[in-house]
Amino acid sequence: MNSEIIVNKEKLKTPPLEIHYLGDRSLRQSAKRVAKVDDDIRQLVREMLQTMYTADGIGLAAPQVAVQKQVIVIDCEPDNSATPPIVLINPTIKRYGTDICLFQEGCLSIPGVYLDVKRPSVIEVAYKDENGRPQTLQAKELLSRAIQHEMDHLQGVLFVDRVENKLALNEELAKHKFSAKAVKSVA
Ligand code: ZN
Repeated sequence: MNSEIIVNKEKLKTPPLEIHYLGDRSLRQSAKRVAKVDDDIRQLVREMLQTMYTADGIGLAAPQVAVQKQVIVIDCEPDNSATPPIVLINPTIKRYGTDICLFQEGCLSIPGVYLDVKRPSVIEVAYKDENGRPQTLQAKELLSRAIQHEMDHLQGVLFVDRVENKLALNEELAKHKFSAKAVKSVA
């Protein structure tokens, strides 16, 4: 069976799914493992991709659209129609590199807020793809960061929870009308 998911990288007038924002409970729940990668999951993946491209994002996790399943879509090159997106189902990180780097992150669930977060530079991640096949991937740079950010969503963790500069965090949140009370520090 070759059920490749083909989605145009375009902005739709009405995306199929609604993105939930900081303060919403669905962002704070743990996602459940997917027991079977079937057509329902592939339809979810298709709709998540369409929603992500419409919102101008490079990653989206199912809890952001209030679906508590371990499903992530990532595309670090949304403007390049030749590169396929990456779909990660039930991902687990097998190895972290020793290098830690500081890099600016944003999130479709916290629009407008961009802040520096420390994370390991390199990871090795195991997951199932959209056909249910097991895969492993060594990721670095932007892809590594996107995977770690999206995997946090599956645990109900948001990037703002990891921001160490609390002054900058509170300023950014206030500027974009988000409540600092919605942040649950993990640092
Ligand atoms: Zn996010």
